[in-house]
Parts: sequence; structure tokens; C-alpha cells
Amino acid sequence: MKTLTPHRRAFLQALSAAGLAAAWPAARAAKIQPDDQSVLIAVDVQNCFVTGGTLPVKDGEAVVPVINKLADHFENIVITQDWHTPGHASFASSYPGKKPFETTKLNYGTQVLWPDHCVQGTDDAALQKDLKLPKAQLIIRKGFHKGMDSYSAFDEADHKTATGLAGYLKARGIKTVYVTGLATDFCVAWTAMDARKNGFEVYVIEDATRGIDLNGSLAAAWKQMTAKGVKRIQSGDILG
Ligand SMILES: [Zn+2]
Repeated sequence: MKTLTPHRRAFLQALSAAGLAAAWPAARAAKIQPDDQSVLIAVDVQNCFVTGGTLPVKDGEAVVPVINKLADHFENIVITQDWHTPGHASFASSYPGKKPFETTKLNYGTQVLWPDHCVQGTDDAALQKDLKLPKAQLIIRKGFHKGMDSYSAFDEADHKTATGLAGYLKARGIKTVYVTGLATDFCVAWTAMDARKNGFEVYVIEDATRGIDLNGSLAAAWKQMTAKGVKRIQSGDILG
């Protein structure tokens, strides 16, 4: 058993009395180190969601250099792409009289209606050109069923139809998921919460995301994510 010198014991007692003993080890362990059972997911960093795209997220392109830097710290990287058919169920233009950002009821629940965006094979749906993720091992495309949206990279909007990502990650021994990309309050949040549902430890790297914030949706998404055990961190927690 390790013995403490009287001097060290007195020092620890002083720390404890000052309420610092608990804070001290936490501060020393502040840097988070992804391991070989971790994956970085870059959600929907596509032309459609950045300036000049069909559904631009404010400052969406600002996530690109942050994600590029984070990628140096990961052995496993997965990219997602929103990948809709023309005339998709999530497009306002598919419903006479409906405008973008209104909602409608579909058989799986309430659907926000968006401008036409990320149509399969178009330049709008391509990955943003400055995103440099040469190590990425999988690109998962979602939202390709014409009648159903898919914010999440794991399950489509009915919360039943799997994209296959959970099986892929589990087969590869992945335990921890770090989510980045666009938009925080929709595809990032739903991906993070579904990752929890599938048993992964989940971090969202806040400054590597940007939100749409439709009627308070950004604050609501953080609240829901936190309630489900998603951890909110900054890129500096990994990059140091
Ligand atoms: Zn979409």
C-alpha cells in the first residue's frame, strides 16, 4: 500500500478543505483522446447546406477546417450525405400550397418541409470541396427513399428502417461515436441520439457543427441530446 508523507497528506487535506481535490484530477484529464474503437462522423457537409447551396445553414462552411483538423486524431471516419430523389417527401414543392419550413403530417409523423435540396447526383449534393477526409472509410447516403426522410445516419424518419450504419460500426468493434457536421439541430442531433439508442458512447463536437435553429430547435435539440446522455464537447477538448 502506498503511504503518504505527512507533508503530502497535509497538502491533500488542504486541497480537500478548499474544495479543489475533485477539480484537480478532472482538469488534468481534460484532453479527450479518441482510440481505435472511436469513429468520427462528418454529417452532411455538402454544398446544399453551405453558403450558395439550396438549404444553407448559417456559416455552415465554418465546420470544414475544424473537421479536417479533428480527422488527424481519428483512425476511423465515416461521412454521410443527404441523398434525396427528385420530388422527395421532405420537399415543400411536393405538396401543392405548401411553403418551405412549414410542416405536414406523414404516416411516420410530423415532417418539416424543406426547399428542394441534395438531389441525388447533383453538384448541390456533392461534398463541400474543402472537406479533406482521405482516411474516410465509408460514405453512407440517407433519405433516398422517396416517401421518407432520414435526418439520422442510423435510422430513417420512421425510427424503424435502418441505414445499416449501426451494424457496420458494431461489426468493426466501434464503441464511441464523435458527431460533427450539419445541421446541429436536425441531422447531427438525430444521428447522435440514435447512436445512443444503438448503445454507443456519443460526443457531439459543438464547434464542428452549425445549426438551422427553426423556432428554437437548436436549444431544444441540445436539451434532448443531453437527456439521452450525449456529451457536448468542443474541438479543443480533443485538439488541445
Ligand atoms: Zn434532406
